[in-house]
Amino acid sequence: MSARADIIRLLHAGLGNKAIARQVHVRHQTVAAIRAELGLPNIVRPATAPYSEDAFWQRTQPVDGGHLNWTGHYNSTGVPCLRTTEGMHTAYRIAFRIRWRRDPTGPVKPGCDMDRCVHPDHVEDQPMRQLYAAIFGEAAA
Ligand SMILES: [Zn+2]
Repeated sequence: MSARADIIRLLHAGLGNKAIARQVHVRHQTVAAIRAELGLPNIVRPATAPYSEDAFWQRTQPVDGGHLNWTGHYNSTGVPCLRTTEGMHTAYRIAFRIRWRRDPTGPVKPGCDMDRCVHPDHVEDQPMRQLYAAIFGEAAA
């Protein structure tokens, strides 16, 4: 099968230009040109994270109390981190994004009683901490 036929097949399968280019070993501009020729819309995806969620889960271990321990790298200040194509990301931020599907605002920290817990349900960003503090008083901040 020709590269062009492969590209057309993958375009119809709903893949993005870059994914097709990687698979068929052509430049993504080539794929874009064929897409335009066929009148297929560009696939607009939310910005993909520079890491895989699998990489996160592979570095975690459930522990007592429903918490999640980080078995991966810790930076010099003891923060759990994951090396990505864009540099280091804290495991807290990745956990936050897994749970909330948005970027956190301000620092993300575990809001549970386990030090360095990376459970997606347990991490909080700044607005969440402020909200809980307003509801439960400063002691919860
Ligand atoms: Zn926890």
